[in-house]
Amino acid sequence: MKEYEHQDLFVIWKPELCEHAKVCWQTLPLVYRPKERPWIRPEFATKEELIDQINKCPSGALSYRLKEDSQ
Ligand code: SF4
Repeated sequence: MKEYEHQDLFVIWKPELCEHAKVCWQTLPLVYRPKERPWIRPEFATKEELIDQINKCPSGALSYRLKEDSQ
């Protein structure tokens, strides 16, 4: 499991669940760059855009948590 931090949001990616369905990088191509490392660059979208896109991941590989959740 990998986490990518941006402001008060952590994008969580579970590679073993990813179906490479491309939904993420077709929706937010500036954020999800499968040929680069790190491949998720959450700073290129707003928190709302990230959450909206994460909720569309068909496999459940993407999820998120807010910083205040961990306090
Ligand atoms: S949308 Fe989800 S399943 Fe599809 S490539 Fe992105 S992380 Fe993987």
